[in-house]
Parts: sequence; structure tokens; C-alpha cells
Amino acid sequence: MKITAVRTHILQASLSHPFACARAWCDMRTAMLVEIETDQGLVGWGECCGPARITAAVVETITPWLIGEDPLRIECLWQMVYGRLRDHGQKGVVIQGLSGIDVALWDIMGKRFGVPVYQLLGGAQRTQVGSYATGLYRREAGDPIRYLAEEASNYVAEGFPAVKLRVGFGEYEDAAVTRAVREAIGPRITLMVDANHAYDSVAAIRLGRMIEQYDIGWFEEPVSPEDINGYRAVKSAIAIPIAGGECEFTRFGFRNLFNSHALDIVQPDTCAAGGLTECKKIADMADAFGKRYNPHVWGTGVAIAASLQLLAVLPPHAHPSLRPTAPILEFDRTEHPIRQAILVEPIEHVRGVVRVPDGPGLGIEVDRKALTRFAVR
Ligand code: CA
Repeated sequence: MKITAVRTHILQASLSHPFACARAWCDMRTAMLVEIETDQGLVGWGECCGPARITAAVVETITPWLIGEDPLRIECLWQMVYGRLRDHGQKGVVIQGLSGIDVALWDIMGKRFGVPVYQLLGGAQRTQVGSYATGLYRREAGDPIRYLAEEASNYVAEGFPAVKLRVGFGEYEDAAVTRAVREAIGPRITLMVDANHAYDSVAAIRLGRMIEQYDIGWFEEPVSPEDINGYRAVKSAIAIPIAGGECEFTRFGFRNLFNSHALDIVQPDTCAAGGLTECKKIADMADAFGKRYNPHVWGTGVAIAASLQLLAVLPPHAHPSLRPTAPILEFDRTEHPIRQAILVEPIEHVRGVVRVPDGPGLGIEVDRKALTRFAVR
């Protein structure tokens, strides 16, 4: 089998209600899908998490190196691309581009052998995955104390066992909002907070101490990803587990993160940190270092499917154990017109549980009409 074409699809959709994390407003969702075609009629799909126009340029740059190659030599192709760009892109958009290609190659491999990707990655530890609702962003109007408490209650009513709240808007306001959400959801629902690295360690520690009393599942990206010492300071100062890693890349980047003992939970993004090939390696390292692995997921159904294939094979966080803690899916509940529209069969949750697609490859079929509808060019 040979690769005959690699296509990039930049998709875009405006939002009816803009929302904000601590760093920026979001009034538009974009996506960058990778489509790899073979001479045997098999087509694979991947997605790059990152700035769409730049990751598309990366994929287009790599494309000539892939044409004519055997798509089943995934590991070799990964090494070839990484090696050729190593001097220029050990992190960031180059690896995000490579990630989308890697995921598409795994999709082809699964389709070639007629099995879901998780079968090829070692077999399923689980065929359904628990998820948490990622949402609770700020809106243009209204009282956040009121609308965030209400939104969180709605997730609980839908069956989600855990919700993640955006913080980073000032410690006092954060603490008040965290308290309101905790009161709204009750003591049994897991509550995580995410500062989207809008704080330095001084502010993050201050906030952490104020909200420790609300039983926080994890404090995500308290400080900027480069500030490893800041991470360590936050981790040693507060009792809340520290999470991060959505801005880290490849086994090399995560090796340094693991060695720094700066966080408790790592969150590589399957469509950014190096694809399924690399994230499986990072997951094995997390296991060896005794760190929890919960993937960051922020994309369309293609990214969700890729994340689910990996989640299916991740070991429990402590094992063997009668009641192990399993890794969970970050399930984005914010407005995203493209997310499910590009799938012929949407990936949904039932009471917070998501079934891992078990068809060949990623187990999804992309709706080409939707691709045309959201296409930028
Ligand atoms: Ca995050």
C-alpha cells in the first residue's frame, strides 16, 4: 500500500455566544483535519490541535515526504518526519502537524486490518470511558456566580460525575465562583479548576489555599508551561493535585516534565503532543513515573475519537486494584458547530459515559457535506 495524497481541511464556524477563559475570548471555532489517501482506496483521518492555518502549512510541507510511502510504517514515518524537522520544531505547531498525520495513519492501519485502533495499541482495558464536562467559561453578560452554578448543575443533571471550572480571573472572584459551583453540585461530584496558565505562582498559591476547602480534584495549568519552578512551588504549597501538559510535546518534552516532579496529572493532547504513536509512549512513561494520565481534548469528533482509542488502552492509574481510578475523557460541552456535525454518527455520552467507537480505525465516518459546509477555502 502506498500513500497517494495528503489533504488538509481548514474548517471554521462562528459562535452564537462568545465565551472566555482567563486568557482570551473565543467567538469562533476552527479545526484542521488531515485526510490521507492510499492507492488501495483506504482513506485515513486525523486532526491537528493548534492554529489551523499554521498546522495546515506544516502538513503541506511534510506531504511530499509521505507520497509513495507505505502508510503502515507509522513509527518509521514518524521518526523520519521528526528527524527532518528536529532542528526547527521539537515542540509546537510542527509536532501538532505531525500529530494529525500520525492519527490519520493509525486510522488507515485499523481499516487495513479491519480492527479498531485500540486493538493495534495493545487491546482494550475498557470499551467505555467515563468523562467530565469541560465548560464553565465566562459569558459576555450576566453574573458568573449565578450562571456558572446553574451550568454546573445542568451537567450534574445530565449525569456527568465531574465538571471543570475556569479560573484565573482574580483570586477573590475565583474563590467566590468555586464556592458557588461546589455548593450547586454538592459534595459527591468531582470539581476541577483550570487557570489556563493565567497566573504566576504567587497568585496560583494564593488561590489554591483559598479553594482547598472545596475539595478540588485538580488545579490545571496554574502557571505558564515554561515555568517549571513555578509548578513545583505551587505543588509543594497546596494540597490540591496539580495538572498540566496540554502545551507539552513528545516523549522528550514529557521526560523533562516527569523528571521535574512538578505535577501529579499529565494531560498530553493526542492531536498535538505527537499523535497516538507518541502519546502511547508518554502514557507508558506516566505509568513508570507514577503519574496520572488524562488526555487534553479540544477539537472535533476526529480528535475525540482518537482520544477515545487511546483512553481504551491506558492502564488504570493504580493497578492492580479492586477499585482502580480510570483515566477519563475531557468532554468539551461548549458551543462547537463543527464538533459532531462532521461525523456521520456523533459521539455522545450517556449519563457521562462515552462508548469507544469499535469500528475499523478510529471507528468514525466523516461527513463530507459537513466538510464543505465549514470549509474556509
Ligand atoms: Ca486546559
